[in-house]
Amino acid sequence: MKLDRAREIARRVEHFVRTEVAGYERDPRVGAHGPSADLVDEMRANTLGPLAVNVSAPDEGNMFLIGKIGTPEQKRRFLQPVLEGRVRSAFFMTEPAAEGGAGSDPSMMQTTARLDGTHWVVTGSKIFITGADGARVGIIMAKTGESATMFIVDLPDPAVRIERVLDTIDNAMPGGHALVRIEGLRVPADQILGEVDKGFKYAQVRLAPARLTHCMRWLGAATRCNEIAIDYAIKRSAFGRQLIDHEGVGFMLADNLIDLKQSELIIDWCADVLDTGASGTAESSMAKVAVSEALFRVADRCVQIMGGTGVTRETIVEQVFREIRAFRIYDGPTEVHRWSLAKKIKRDYASGAGR
Ligand SMILES: Cc1cc2nc3c(=O)[nH]c(=O)nc-3n(C[C@H](O)[C@H](O)[C@H](O)COP(=O)(O)OP(=O)(O)OC[C@H]3O[C@@H](n4cnc5c(N)ncnc54)[C@H](O)[C@@H]3O)c2cc1C
Repeated sequence: MKLDRAREIARRVEHFVRTEVAGYERDPRVGAHGPSADLVDEMRANTLGPLAVNVSAPDEGNMFLIGKIGTPEQKRRFLQPVLEGRVRSAFFMTEPAAEGGAGSDPSMMQTTARLDGTHWVVTGSKIFITGADGARVGIIMAKTGESATMFIVDLPDPAVRIERVLDTIDNAMPGGHALVRIEGLRVPADQILGEVDKGFKYAQVRLAPARLTHCMRWLGAATRCNEIAIDYAIKRSAFGRQLIDHEGVGFMLADNLIDLKQSELIIDWCADVLDTGASGTAESSMAKVAVSEALFRVADRCVQIMGGTGVTRETIVEQVFREIRAFRIYDGPTEVHRWSLAKKIKRDYASGAGR
């Protein structure tokens, strides 16, 4: 029954994306820093919109986390409006490399929170904060002694200053990615998300499923690119035959099919593991590396198959190629996942579990 319901939802979402959302692929309101607020509102005004579209990053991961560890009052005040698609949220963890802050290594976090009466006072800098510009809800991570704590806050706030929105390779996410200065932000104690000092643990709770939903979203986008590339390879001819009949092109399309299917299977496997309630840390690392690398190969082949058209904005292929390039870095760069998997292999070996 549960599986039937999941299939039905998947079918409806696919129908919706194909019939309603695909028409927005090349909308001029998708600017350098993501889709404009009125474009997002227009898409969400469709009756299916909140159901089908309000699953984007970082909102989806933030909704999951607040739903999992927020108090009833925090859910009413911060989760409900995001769930309904009325406002956007942002997740503040990474800090500027130039200032020696947290990136791949969260333990390098420099943003601090100190208790002052009934409030915590948060100070520090954050970078690459997706959607910070325009967000109404923020989850901010700060060091509290040796550990870290998460705070949930209303935005905008004069103490959370957007210094600038960075020009990045991607542009699918509303608000872009911002450099933010937090200067003495006062947060009431009841706006701690979960418990004090458990921020690093909660980051893992958020990240495992969030990585997987990124994999799902980009699998859909890469599948769309592959359809466009197939269409091109069938309709376009060179040297007296359809492109698809040249082995060089046909084999690229075959490899795309293999990479797409392998991505789908590892996503399903990891989702099954997460459904059991397991943390899925190793599984989501494996899925994230496998899928981001495979989909990047798919997008790259699609660009190649389409020749000059592949690098133009005449189709969505060029954008998806850029988006997936960034996906190999956020939610943990490929090398960091491989490194942590290697540590697990060594641990398992030492404990006998790996033999
Ligand atoms: C488009 C985009 C959106 C983002 N959105 C958010 C957001 O909303 N909120 C947020 O908090 N952060 C966000 N980030 C930040 C992202 O999580 C970080 O970029 C990522 O964690 C890497 O940190 P860094 O950029 O400081 O790279 P660094 O830590 O400087 O690492 C640079 C490179 O070093 C290598 N490396 C690092 N450690 C190891 C290792 N152990 N073994 C082998 N190689 C290693 C990797 O190749 C890595 O790419 C976003 C980033 C991007 C690009």
